[in-house]
Amino acid sequence: MAGLYLHIPFCKQACYYCDFHFSTRHQGVDELVQAMLRELRLQQHYLEGESVETIYFGGGTPSLLSVENIRALMQAVYNHFPVLGAAEVTLEANPDDLTLEKLGGLKEAGVNRLSIGIQSFNDTVLKSFNRAHNSEQARASVQAARAAGFENINIDLIYGVPNQTREALQQDLDHFTQLNPEHISAYALTIEEKTVFGYQSKRGRLAALPENETAEHFECVMRHLEDSGYEQYEISNFCMPGHYSKHNSSYWQQKKYLGVGPSAHSYNGQSRQWNIANNQLYVRSLAAGTIPFEREVLTRANQINEFLFTTLRTRWGTDLQHLKNVFQFTPDQQKIQLMEKQGMIQVDNGQLTLTQKGKLLADKIALEFFY
Ligand code: SF4
Repeated sequence: MAGLYLHIPFCKQACYYCDFHFSTRHQGVDELVQAMLRELRLQQHYLEGESVETIYFGGGTPSLLSVENIRALMQAVYNHFPVLGAAEVTLEANPDDLTLEKLGGLKEAGVNRLSIGIQSFNDTVLKSFNRAHNSEQARASVQAARAAGFENINIDLIYGVPNQTREALQQDLDHFTQLNPEHISAYALTIEEKTVFGYQSKRGRLAALPENETAEHFECVMRHLEDSGYEQYEISNFCMPGHYSKHNSSYWQQKKYLGVGPSAHSYNGQSRQWNIANNQLYVRSLAAGTIPFEREVLTRANQINEFLFTTLRTRWGTDLQHLKNVFQFTPDQQKIQLMEKQGMIQVDNGQLTLTQKGKLLADKIALEFFY
């Protein structure tokens, strides 16, 4: 089983915290879609005939694409790859794009899961992020998605916002859970260098929330979502019973995936490759019949560390026997015992998992066990 990722590199406006690859100039949308159709054809053997079980339109803002363009991309996927009948087809959408008409078109095109970039229901926070929507549009978008028949909805949430109090976060969380989405992805705000927030922070005009307060906010998020019936199956991902994101899960299970579009990454078990993060150069190169990408062959150390890093973040944890059988690697036993004593991890039946306390330091703990 494998996954397909389609990167749509356009946004209405730049959110102040975002360092993804996107452009706010939309003149070349149709040409870019044509280039992606060419790339899908050229890459039809990348997955070596494995069935595609997830298709994911990410970005950028895929909901900016016309339904015709989404339909054309879906058609090309079906033409060139064996797609499972029950494939999960997710599209990332911003609330301000989701009219009933658009939603109906998306459904008809085969999209069966929406990931809505709401981030917050607090209008002051949304403004400070330079989001293109407000809280009213956010609420309306979920209601419209339900009315259009979508039964599998993810909502993105950002916590650890500068100056946000615990009370304000709690109020925000109430709004999220009142809408009963099947899935919530919760991310701590990080201030990246090449963003407006990065620029403001460098000039002393924006102070990140201190690390200990961000950790408190994360605890608040975990507690609230668990009390509301969500299962935290990965550090940043929470779902109602049975509504795991198949697409996200396939990354943690080291399944193959093909990424199409500028800046999209692909993985085939042995190597990773990534397309050029430049829309014009991408289009020009595909017009000449060449995919502009770079590749890195994964060393044994890369594979071990990726396995540790991704699996430790999940509720199933790291399978120590798998590490031994596949990579002939055993993490440092003394470190395991020490962290067990500190209440950060537990080992049960050969599965190494994080405790609640450990979840606050997930990445640092994984680094301790690296090859
Ligand atoms: S809409 Fe999404 S991809 Fe676009 S700038 Fe905002 S956060 Fe980044």
